[in-house]
Amino acid sequence: MKKEEVIKRLKELASKIEYHNNLYYNNDNPEISDAEYDKLRIDNDELEKKFPDFVLVNSPSKKVGAELSSEFKKIEHKVPMLSLGNTFTKQDVENYIDKTKRFLQIDKSIDLEFLAEPKIDGLSATLIYKNGKLEVGATRGDGRLGENITENIKSIKAIPLLLEGKYPNDIEIRGEIYMSNSEFEKLNSYRLKNALPVFANPRNAAAGSVRQLDSKITASRKLGFFAYNWGIISESIGSSLLEAREFIKSLGFNLNHPVKLCSNLDEMIDFYNKINENRSNLDFDIDGIVYKLNDISFYERLGSTDHSPRYAVSHKFPAELGITTLKNVKFQVGRTGAITPVAELTPVTIGGVRIKRASLHNKDEIQRLGLVIGDTVSVKRAGDVIPQIVDYNNKLRPSKYENITFPDYCPSCNNPLKIDENDTIIRCLNHINCKEQIIGQLIHFVSRNALNIDGLGEKQVIELFNNNLISEPADIFALASPESIIKQEKIINLPGWGKLSLSNLINSINKSKIQTMDKILYSLGIRHLGLGTAKLITKNYSKSADLIDRIVYLNEDNKDKLINELKYINGIGEKAIISFISYFTENKLLFTNLLKHITIAEILISKDSSHYFYGKRMVFTGKFEYLSRTEIKNKSEKIGALISSQISSKTDFLVVGLKPGSKVTKAKKLEINIISEKEFLSHF
Ligand code: AMP
Ligand code: ZN
Repeated sequence: MKKEEVIKRLKELASKIEYHNNLYYNNDNPEISDAEYDKLRIDNDELEKKFPDFVLVNSPSKKVGAELSSEFKKIEHKVPMLSLGNTFTKQDVENYIDKTKRFLQIDKSIDLEFLAEPKIDGLSATLIYKNGKLEVGATRGDGRLGENITENIKSIKAIPLLLEGKYPNDIEIRGEIYMSNSEFEKLNSYRLKNALPVFANPRNAAAGSVRQLDSKITASRKLGFFAYNWGIISESIGSSLLEAREFIKSLGFNLNHPVKLCSNLDEMIDFYNKINENRSNLDFDIDGIVYKLNDISFYERLGSTDHSPRYAVSHKFPAELGITTLKNVKFQVGRTGAITPVAELTPVTIGGVRIKRASLHNKDEIQRLGLVIGDTVSVKRAGDVIPQIVDYNNKLRPSKYENITFPDYCPSCNNPLKIDENDTIIRCLNHINCKEQIIGQLIHFVSRNALNIDGLGEKQVIELFNNNLISEPADIFALASPESIIKQEKIINLPGWGKLSLSNLINSINKSKIQTMDKILYSLGIRHLGLGTAKLITKNYSKSADLIDRIVYLNEDNKDKLINELKYINGIGEKAIISFISYFTENKLLFTNLLKHITIAEILISKDSSHYFYGKRMVFTGKFEYLSRTEIKNKSEKIGALISSQISSKTDFLVVGLKPGSKVTKAKKLEINIISEKEFLSHF
């Protein structure tokens, strides 16, 4: 090969690879399979090896190669990035304020100051600065683990690389990355012209732009950033939210705006209404208002639930409606066997999002609405919630129509369906062999809030299942083992897969092998067992091995013992307990198979293991004088105490307030430490 030919071929390969990178990462819309893509890269590598002198300055081997094969690195948020509680009506907001006052033991007649801010519809990001320099930028991820997207963050002009003014040595600024409406329209009209798929809304466009492996693409998208919060900081940045915001502004950030300091509920609602009416004048999308207490000293005291902080709440704008026709109804089998009717609609755009399907929840809902196929229906879409049919137009009902008939047999496994007496949900009870249920469970298992295995989405799980490569959670881990060479070969040869995507998958499976017990429990998809409950159960056992033993040796004879242990945990309902026991009675083997692949890490109850009450089991009784009961419990949880709802021989302390109940007698009998509220508080 002549020199000219080599260079020509290298240039050709470079431009092809760049073109396909762009399709894959930029547009989520590849034209060639991974295998074909791999081939281009291999050709390029081989040619470069043969002619090292001719390697191009912008060779693909220098740029994206390494980045492509590694997904974004995970990063742990020291202060979790939480969601927000939702309210929809003035009454909801009032209830929230009352609850907050009760927590803080502030009289109902006293007004609290709230700062009302727009809730930006973008994606949240956190920025870590050390000595004034941007070190790390990350996404929220599942709230605990985000993705390190520092390079892309750095390419956003609205984010300062160096802080201005007087800054703390360590400061973590949080806020929203967004795309302005004008920029969004520009981008989409460009894409339309170039026959590229358009983005559904500015939020998707912003998210797609940030999660690029090539930061040049992020840079070209002109994203904005509004700061509205902070994580770890080495010194105080103010005693009120308004002060903190001014401080953040002085560092060089844009703040979300407009905001208003409200001294009572009516002012909050006024602001909400005004912004809602003038929404279209803003150059960025918002989906509601966030009310945050202005006094920062309350934040620590109020703490947070697993889901959201208590010092703030969002007030969502009303859902948007669209009119379309109901084409058909399909019946989906959920991972717990629940049969959900799903409406198939003539596609309609509601609030900038294309809607093709809506949930009909259950049989009762279809009857309540009185729908038939062919009806003209109104569809409601609120934020990220699955769209819903709210009504139909009687006058537009076609003369010939088809009724919606709920099936008697499972659409997936043909087993007769049963109605669940407790929740009036129609289910397939064939949990072990029903294909759609198994697939649903596997999808849940790898999903974001569960084990969060990158590269294994809904589509891949279905594909692997249909090719007999996985049928239970343990099989996913087995895929990554060197002994699974035959299965791995099979994957490489599936359409759209290649060496690269397989090795990415193996990497992310291997990364997911260390797990805490609460994540495992949640990932199994047990009914009525959310993340919060899973955590409470896990925390109740000082060693996860003890909990595992209980499960593995669970049988008819000792089952009551476990039920009793669970009953004592504060915050766990009867339904969750029944479901937990029946799940493990049916699925013990699935669980033990899974354990063979997993290293269990202990859950970190609290960082302050030196605290007097750390790891101690506490029960509370009576009315407390100094703090509300919720605040007392919150304080205890924060330092790693375990809260039980009833006295047992394992209880360490009973904390008594005024007019205590029968718990005192029981505690005395069992010779348990009884302490007053004052004594309890003296340890903080
Ligand atoms: P949700 O999307 O319902 O989980 O609400 C929580 C998210 O709202 C946060 O993670 C932020 O990304 C986003 N958000 C947008 N604007 C604000 C704001 N002004 N204050 C706090 N969070 C906000
Ligand atoms: Zn079934």
